Amino acid sequence: MGEQTFREYLGARWGKTGDGPINDFIRREDGRLIFGDRVDLGALVAEYGAPLEVAYCPLITQEIHRMQRVAAAARAATGYAQPLLYAYATKANFAEEVVRTALNAGAHYETSSAADAQIAAILWQNGTLPHDRWVFCNGSKDAEYLHAVVRLRLRGSARVVPVLDDLDEFEHFRKLSVPVRFGVRAREWARCAGGDRFGLLEDEMLQVAETLRDTRHELVLYHAMVGSQIEDEGEWLAALTRAMEQYCALWHVAPSLRMFNFGGGMPTAAYALDFVFDYEGFFRRLFTTIQTVCDRHGVPVPQVVGEFGRYTVASHSMFLFEVAQTKAGRDGAAPWYLLDGSLMVSAPDTLIVDQQFIILPVDDWDAPAQAVRLGGRRTCDSDDAYPRAGQEPLVLPQTEGGLVVAVFGVGAYQQMLGGRGGAHHCLNPEMRRLIIEEGPRGLEMREIAPQSLSQIMVALGYNQQPVRQRVPVAARRRVEAVRTLGVRPACLPASTKTPPVWVNG
Ligand SMILES: *Cc1c(COP(=O)(O)O)cnc(C)c1O
Repeated sequence: MGEQTFREYLGARWGKTGDGPINDFIRREDGRLIFGDRVDLGALVAEYGAPLEVAYCPLITQEIHRMQRVAAAARAATGYAQPLLYAYATKANFAEEVVRTALNAGAHYETSSAADAQIAAILWQNGTLPHDRWVFCNGSKDAEYLHAVVRLRLRGSARVVPVLDDLDEFEHFRKLSVPVRFGVRAREWARCAGGDRFGLLEDEMLQVAETLRDTRHELVLYHAMVGSQIEDEGEWLAALTRAMEQYCALWHVAPSLRMFNFGGGMPTAAYALDFVFDYEGFFRRLFTTIQTVCDRHGVPVPQVVGEFGRYTVASHSMFLFEVAQTKAGRDGAAPWYLLDGSLMVSAPDTLIVDQQFIILPVDDWDAPAQAVRLGGRRTCDSDDAYPRAGQEPLVLPQTEGGLVVAVFGVGAYQQMLGGRGGAHHCLNPEMRRLIIEEGPRGLEMREIAPQSLSQIMVALGYNQQPVRQRVPVAARRRVEAVRTLGVRPACLPASTKTPPVWVNG
């Protein structure tokens, strides 16, 4: 690499000068790294230190509005009869401020679980989820999930749409005395191995359509999810074209059908500096294709629905870590930069799907650059390493420690997979979190304190007042067996004659 500076590396590898825009939501100005147009990351570190998580909600609004604009432009260009219906797939990030921001930006709601539908019902009742919004309920529905959807319907939401995952669900909803608007999810379009468990086979969908004829209920939506972060537009459109043929067949049985939902899959620009996807072109080609298929079958064009998870929220949050320690690589391998945190814990997709993220230094852009490896210093796990084997080397300025690196694009799935609250791998504490939202007089910021050791200990059962309970006989025998073996469980006070079982309060 010679003595190439970081700025020169960025120019040579990614075609960015380091002055002005780096992508849609990262900019560098007067030597300052700016996030989402208005947040000076160096200033945040100077004020709050690292590690730090920054959630910048205006980016959510911006992404939603951009997609709505792009779809409107495609609609105007193709003369498509219906506007795009943008739903937020909440499973990408359930944080209150995230969901509220998406709803305020005009998004409809897509649920994936019982708790999700229960939250939707609460938001529907307190007005955060306006009554004109659709709520699409996907996934296999257990008793609790069924109940949550029914409750939302009975409270008056006529726009809650159970998207059927099996025929038992259908039997359950069909018995309701209030009219229900149904969706069906087709099983065959899923591109990933785990996807084809969702939804119904074609003859099952036709059976639903037949059964609903001349009832108080109606079939309104057809769902054809292909995958996630789909960057191959041609492959995606090919699958959706075949799905549209199926939609038309179904429409001839149930002409109440009027929404074509392509589910998730819309790719985000948040993971790579060289990402390109022609969003407007995608919608132009999708609208034209749908129009053509519908014309051929004499079917009115449907309203197109998208459930945008990753796309909606990936860009809005990022981490700032300090390189707290460095170590030379062995035998000429790239040196280790040990972060004051853990990518494995905070961005688990680095492990689960080998996800790569945009990682930039906050300062030192004119320092010599080198390929490095990141390790989480707050775990002792050899899997806590980035980049993964076979991935492009990560280049950062040389440092003896103290360099702060920005990890972008972590707003989708990472927090939900890693969990919030509780204890994490190697007890890596959750970092300080800054939540920035658009307020009536400009940006407003909230600070959530880093997780304390006592919170972690309480989550693990330390420091809790023990509660005495009657011991069921079998349990008592087990305790005695343990004693006979000569092992004294640490939780049993030695003096007690009849050993109680200690139960966490
Ligand atoms: C997960 C999921 C989504 C969101 O997918 P993204 O690729 O994150 O946009 C949308 N719809 C359904 C049914 C899902 O399961």
